[in-house]
Amino acid sequence: SQDAVPGPARRVDAPPAETLAKGGGHKFSHGHAVVISGGFGKTGAARLAARGALRIGAGLVTLGVPGAAQMEVAGQITGLMMTRVEDGAALAALLEDGRITALCLGPGLGLDRARALVPVALDQAAERARPARGVVLDADALTAYRDDPEALFARLHARSVLTPHDGEFARLFPDLAARLGDTPHAGPAYSKADAARDAARRAGCVVVFKGPDTVIADPQGRVAVNAGVYDRAAPWLATAGTGDVLAGFVTGLLARGMAPMPAAQTAAWLHVACARHFGPGLISEDLPEALPAVLRAL
Ligand code: AMP
Ligand code: MG
Repeated sequence: SQDAVPGPARRVDAPPAETLAKGGGHKFSHGHAVVISGGFGKTGAARLAARGALRIGAGLVTLGVPGAAQMEVAGQITGLMMTRVEDGAALAALLEDGRITALCLGPGLGLDRARALVPVALDQAAERARPARGVVLDADALTAYRDDPEALFARLHARSVLTPHDGEFARLFPDLAARLGDTPHAGPAYSKADAARDAARRAGCVVVFKGPDTVIADPQGRVAVNAGVYDRAAPWLATAGTGDVLAGFVTGLLARGMAPMPAAQTAAWLHVACARHFGPGLISEDLPEALPAVLRAL
């Protein structure tokens, strides 16, 4: 099952097909995900995340774009909506729409924009449950807090999900990263699973510690490993933009109403499955396009 239990890390299994099926309803009953884009020349990462959220089944996906990048984005989106999000006030105004169920901040965002928008997003989510289902923070939304991780942790809530790669993890949790040895995955030494568990406890939310062996942990101490070191290897994922798609997958599943821990595990499993389905030559935009075949085979 998708539920990891406290104690040793469990492996992430294939998600049951019924958890991803759409049982009728209309687009609003499948949630509305918002992905905030960076500025001019930096919009590709958010578009990848948005595409991932759409493919994984969010009913609606909107890209929040600064005015300077609107033209760049407008010609390149299909199936998505676009709205102007210039600053924190604009984001707060957007989140007044209670039908928005999940938000993704970080891919291509830029550090200045992250510093302006992340506090607004987390405060709206914590104080008013807007969006209701969750906030995914990745990339620049994490790096923006490298000088003061505690300021981030103080704002995080149980419906947040962090998706750091090694470098981002080390910026937020330098002491935990320093304890990891050269063979971080297993063994008696402090493992990647231990680090993810400690990070999730400290952050107070689900942490997806990415890599060839992605570890997903929640604040209650549950840990699951989506381990490329076993039979799930997909080395083609080591290419630009794949992490942005993963953030979009998590966001889309949250938007649909899945809880953070199963959403993170399901997204990580499907992400590798898409890479394995596509095979060598993969580039990040292939991942969302491989998803329908992977879902059909579940
Ligand atoms: P990012 O570094 O944010 O672009 O994220 C990279 C994504 O690719 C994450 O989902 C990683 O888990 C995955 N990844 C990176 N390198 C490998 C690898 N060698 N084998 C399998 N997955 C990888
Ligand atoms: Mg990344």
